Amino acid sequence: MNWSEPILHIDMDSFFVEVERLEDPRLKGRPVAVGGVGPRGVVASASYEAREFGVRSAQPTSVAKRLCPSLVVVPSSHGKYGDVSADVFRIFRDFTPKVEGLSLDEAFLDVGGLRRHFDTPEEVGYAIRAKIRSELGLPASVGIAGVKFVAKLASEDAKPDGLLWIAAEQQVDYLRTLDVGRMWGVGPATLAALHRLGVATIGDLADLDRTALVGAVGSATGSHLHELAHGRDPRAVEPDSKAKSISVEETFESDLEGVEVVTAALLGHSHRLSGRLRRAGLRGRTVTLKVRFSDFRTVSRSTTLQGSTDGSKMLYETATDLLEAVELTEPVRLLGLGVTSLESAAQPSQLDFDTNSEWEKVEDAIADVRERFGASSLRPARLARRPGDSDSGQEP
Ligand SMILES: [Mg+2]
Repeated sequence: MNWSEPILHIDMDSFFVEVERLEDPRLKGRPVAVGGVGPRGVVASASYEAREFGVRSAQPTSVAKRLCPSLVVVPSSHGKYGDVSADVFRIFRDFTPKVEGLSLDEAFLDVGGLRRHFDTPEEVGYAIRAKIRSELGLPASVGIAGVKFVAKLASEDAKPDGLLWIAAEQQVDYLRTLDVGRMWGVGPATLAALHRLGVATIGDLADLDRTALVGAVGSATGSHLHELAHGRDPRAVEPDSKAKSISVEETFESDLEGVEVVTAALLGHSHRLSGRLRRAGLRGRTVTLKVRFSDFRTVSRSTTLQGSTDGSKMLYETATDLLEAVELTEPVRLLGLGVTSLESAAQPSQLDFDTNSEWEKVEDAIADVRERFGASSLRPARLARRPGDSDSGQEP
């Protein structure tokens, strides 16, 4: 029941490698590196099997091959990782808007606002990991602490595919034994200076006289490191600037089969997406449908409307149009519906289609009720039917 450590650092494990493994399961369990395959190529991401041979990121691929002759080198394809990264960050933001991205595959989250929904920050961490695993099929590690840099160290120590919570009272002991080179922001020059002072661990650094430290590495760096070594890090999680997209995604407990069932699910998505847009005071012009099949193959289809919308009827009709362009060859594991090209709902360029219609008034009422009582409190009658129920003849 401890909420004095609300900062999570979440880092995907061997991110590029794991994304490649989704597409090519033959890469599982083998030493794999993603990176440049040319004579001057370097490793961008190495699997844990490859790391056992000493393969590291930023290493020349030729060196990696020498260390690990059985290494499979997959050429990197950056667009793909960006797409999956957007999915990962969408999951983060499903939990909290306080997300500060550090790179494609890691972020700080301040989950202090979730204390009414979870017993501990640790439970939030487990829930996020489970969601990333079930929706994306990817492993992530989570560090939890009261301050940012300790959370980051903890996620490293949690790897691979783990979670480590450093409670406030354990923090000093935890830090003392760590190699000082692991301190966030200690570059090679500072590290060399610290080694000359006989500092090997963060504990040594904490014990070092502040004046001696400042004399060796300069005033700003010295003061900063002194504070960090004592576990003091006042930096707050600084959320990334405002949303560029709003979407709803769901991984189903059992895969959806058949266009009718998928269409019914899209109706629910349209209502939820409309609710999210309205609560955010936003409308979007580009609608994207995402379908992930049972074999994790994913297809997306987008279209840009004449004007922006936040109406569930327009979203639903657009989504079903987009669905027609998707061949449902496999059962559907995940269905996503999102909008981009967002603008404030106060802008005048909205589609006339939904404006002032009876439907829209009903939607406003639905969005209000959902906001106050939760998403499951009100949903279209059609969704009360279970997938597989026979057609009642009351389709809209
Ligand atoms: Mg990572």
